[in-house]
Amino acid sequence: MKPNARATALEASATLALDARAKELRAAGVDVVNMAVGEPDFEAPAIVRATAARKAERGPVKYTQASGTPELRTTLAMHMTTTRGVAVSAAEVIVNHSCKHSLATALQILVEPGDEILLPAPIWNSYFEQVRFVGGTPILVQPRPDLGPDFAGLAAAITPRTRGIMINTPCNPSGYVWTAAELAQLGALMVERDLWGICDEIYQRLVYEGEPFASLLAVDDEVRARTVVVDGASKAFAMTGYRMGALIAPVEIVEAADRLQSQLTGCPNAISMSAWRVALADEPPEVAVMAAAFDERRKVLMEGLRGMGLETPWPRGAFYAFPSVAPYLDERGSAGFCADLLESEALAIVPGAVFGMDEHVRFSYATSLDNVREALARMERFLER
Ligand code: GLU
Repeated sequence: MKPNARATALEASATLALDARAKELRAAGVDVVNMAVGEPDFEAPAIVRATAARKAERGPVKYTQASGTPELRTTLAMHMTTTRGVAVSAAEVIVNHSCKHSLATALQILVEPGDEILLPAPIWNSYFEQVRFVGGTPILVQPRPDLGPDFAGLAAAITPRTRGIMINTPCNPSGYVWTAAELAQLGALMVERDLWGICDEIYQRLVYEGEPFASLLAVDDEVRARTVVVDGASKAFAMTGYRMGALIAPVEIVEAADRLQSQLTGCPNAISMSAWRVALADEPPEVAVMAAAFDERRKVLMEGLRGMGLETPWPRGAFYAFPSVAPYLDERGSAGFCADLLESEALAIVPGAVFGMDEHVRFSYATSLDNVREALARMERFLER
């Protein structure tokens, strides 16, 4: 018995594989600094944990509607209305099992076999495999030097088979934050060339400076009619293990997602849904504290990387830095660089190749300031050698 061709061709997530490897080394007694995975080192806010515990204790922990509880969908709609600056109704929201699952759901609903999907590099690794798995073809488009979108490149990559574009703002792995003007330009391209857009906004709360966060949802009604936004609980609320995501889209798409979810997975986790609803409604004070800590680490990391002479575009958001290590690469590219770094300095970072830019590497600074400083020292030693 064999998996089918699509499953056989599927590659495992490099970010999760590297995280697993770093944890394995740590368990074996190696003093690893893990800057591979984008997972906040904080626990979820106190009210989130208390709500989850109370829900588990008192219930009901039963099946809910496949699309999530009406209470959470309503809270999410209110949250989207406030943070995206455009009215969103509960009928335009479905709760999924993680933001990753929201993305997969959107692709399962939107992609026809043979469709081409534009991915402006650098782009999060799972998009490639998720597009391929549903029969689509990912088309990578290289960015401007500051890692922002190159609209001439995007327009030139459109063919009669192009169906959509996926973006992530703030961006994992670069920290680039799309401006409102860039989103308007993207929206115009989507309308002109009849494309839909998936906009991954999981890092929406983590914009540290400059122009505030802007959403593709808010461009105009015509763009909104062809836009799917995804968000989740993992990053801003440090709720990674709770597994909560949501998809915000025109009602027809949400209804299709509801049918799919009712057949494939059933309702999301009832305990996590209660906890996320409270997090959204209460804005726990820990959220701002965590964001301030990420910001401080960002500055220390950037100063260190640039101090080593590494060309590193300035990240305005998320919790990643994406320096170029081009002068240090051999024929194995960024994968070889990261493997050697892990082997010789026990520092885990992610090769840029998995994000579509092989001359770069990704550091996640969702880890302690001590780890950031230690990582910089190890990186510097490694580069000197
Ligand atoms: N999004 C995080 C990262 O890129 C989590 C890992 C994953 O889900 O792949 O590291």
